[in-house]
Amino acid sequence: MDYKELADLIFPNAKPIEEYEKQYPERNLPEGAVVTRFAPSPTGFVHLGSLYQVVIAQKVAKQTKGLFFLRIEDTDQKREVENGVTEIVTSLKDFGLEADEGMTGENSEKGSYGPYKQSLRKDIYQAYAKYLIEQGKAYPCFCTPEDLEEMRTKQETAKIRPGYYGVWAKCRNLTVEEMVQKIKEGKPYIVRLKSPGREDRKIKHHDVIKGNVDFPENDQDIVIIKADGLPTYHFAHAVDDHLMKTTLVIRGDEWLSSIPLHLQLFSMLGFKAPKYAHIAPIMKEDGGNKRKLSKRKDPEAAVSYYTELGIPKEAVVEYLYNIANSNFESWRRANPDKSVDEFDLQINKMSVSGALFDMVKILDISKTIISKYTAEKVYEESYQWACKYDETLRKLLEENKEYSIRVFNIERGNKKPRKDIAKWSDVLQETEYMYESLFEAKKHEYPYQTISTSDKVKEILDAYMKEYYHPEDDKQTWFDRIKELAGSLGYAKEVKEYKANPDAYPGHVGDVSTVLRVALTGRTNTPDMYEIMQILGKEKIEKRFELAKKALK
Ligand code: GLU
Repeated sequence: MDYKELADLIFPNAKPIEEYEKQYPERNLPEGAVVTRFAPSPTGFVHLGSLYQVVIAQKVAKQTKGLFFLRIEDTDQKREVENGVTEIVTSLKDFGLEADEGMTGENSEKGSYGPYKQSLRKDIYQAYAKYLIEQGKAYPCFCTPEDLEEMRTKQETAKIRPGYYGVWAKCRNLTVEEMVQKIKEGKPYIVRLKSPGREDRKIKHHDVIKGNVDFPENDQDIVIIKADGLPTYHFAHAVDDHLMKTTLVIRGDEWLSSIPLHLQLFSMLGFKAPKYAHIAPIMKEDGGNKRKLSKRKDPEAAVSYYTELGIPKEAVVEYLYNIANSNFESWRRANPDKSVDEFDLQINKMSVSGALFDMVKILDISKTIISKYTAEKVYEESYQWACKYDETLRKLLEENKEYSIRVFNIERGNKKPRKDIAKWSDVLQETEYMYESLFEAKKHEYPYQTISTSDKVKEILDAYMKEYYHPEDDKQTWFDRIKELAGSLGYAKEVKEYKANPDAYPGHVGDVSTVLRVALTGRTNTPDMYEIMQILGKEKIEKRFELAKKALK
């Protein structure tokens, strides 16, 4: 009896690996092209940290004229959820990060290095496991869960390093005859790697992000094929990234400690190992401590959170560039109108430790991005969002299309565009005062500021409508008239004058404007009042001032 016979007994139908080696030739890509991938489990949840990895992986591939593919790692079938793949594919699409190759739906894919779903690659893993068994580099293990539990307890009591290795690896030293005998008796088994490593020896590794690291060699006889015939993550990683020709594995740094095992697997299989870049997780401040952004505790850990709030995809992606490379911010300042595609990302400059999540920053980026949109685009995007998430806004936009575009156009398209909208869920709140139906339905507080007594407010509103409001005025004349109004009522016509002699006036032109603004919109802060008045028109302005007067005590 030899290993070959043992291997045939275990995997009688597995093909020789040469067939697969032929089926997956080297990729025909230009020199220096980097092949990257995203390899999630189909749990139906996309974490912001995963999106971060995707942004980086796709960018590196694009920058080098390489390729980025999506592989679904569904060998742990307990973790699977219905439509888990669709969910991932859709999320990537929502953020404009479609893969060049790989899964495109629950059961569809593109590219010639598939199948891209691991459960469909069972035969392939078994062929490579058989190849290892044939060389005595892997073996069947018959230990029962009880045996393993007993081993663990013994190791714990004796305070010995846990695991299946060395003298603890009971099945490793069975003879081929003993193994064959047990299989023929129908004993259940799994397949383990026969690790040649020694814990007292070190391996050196250069990680693209973490730099030089060394680790003890792997000496664990890890499981490569489970009882259900499917591979473990580690084994599938080696086989797939070899066959699919990944040149740079970009993944979360929770996998960094698996490097000794992974390099060992590549070497035992006779494969060239890819390079690795281990990304630090996004952190969150919690009660003075830093911890990983958590799927369980933090709603903002899910990428769906941003879509639901209506934060444009570019804003989220741009935020991720910000945390990826510290020079991104100055690049953006120097190139405010360029697409992030033009930024030269340097993966080796990524931080070794995790960046702190910053929602204020995301919203800030988002405000700037939205401020550069045309009014038509603001309309279109907020309408698309509202169709899914906000019925009131959907109806409002649908029934007032032209008008809404005019409203969005206030202070837009100029050098310093308005920045009041950070997300589509702000639109209603930030523009409702422009719609009669919404404005009238609301009870307004009228937060007057410096000038706030009823008679003074009334005096300003009446005088304005009687003498100083001329619908046809251009902006300069409009403002000059507000100055005149201020002067006529004893307020300073210029802020400068007021500041030079504050005791001489009860307020200045700005305070008078505030009265007009508050009466008109119910708020102290709005975009340009001239444009607002232009859009509302005489009749509505009069009506609003009447409403405001009625509300005075
Ligand atoms: N399926 C693994 C995970 O979801 C992939 C890790 C890797 O990229 O290799 O964590």
